[in-house]
Amino acid sequence: MFQLHCPHCRELRDEEEFSYAGEAYIARPAAPDTVDDAAWGDYLFMRRNTRGWFWEQWMHSSGCRKVFAVKRHTGSYAIAGSWTLAEGKEKFLAEEAAS
Ligand SMILES: [Zn+2]
Repeated sequence: MFQLHCPHCRELRDEEEFSYAGEAYIARPAAPDTVDDAAWGDYLFMRRNTRGWFWEQWMHSSGCRKVFAVKRHTGSYAIAGSWTLAEGKEKFLAEEAAS
């Protein structure tokens, strides 16, 4: 078990209060009408299976019920931080640009 910090409630709470909501910041195709079926299928269904640092969405299902971003190491369960989706997106995009 681990604990997560909800950036909306500003509290560190047990994992049991939260629901995993999948990979964060999946880029939606800019012009969906021009995307072929294979690319659209990739957008809808294909997700990274990373061992290492990973950006995830979690929902505080037993609290404020808001979704937020967490950067978590999938091997060690270390947590680098949690942010609102808007705050986390800035950090995520900065990391993507640097890599
Ligand atoms: Zn909360």
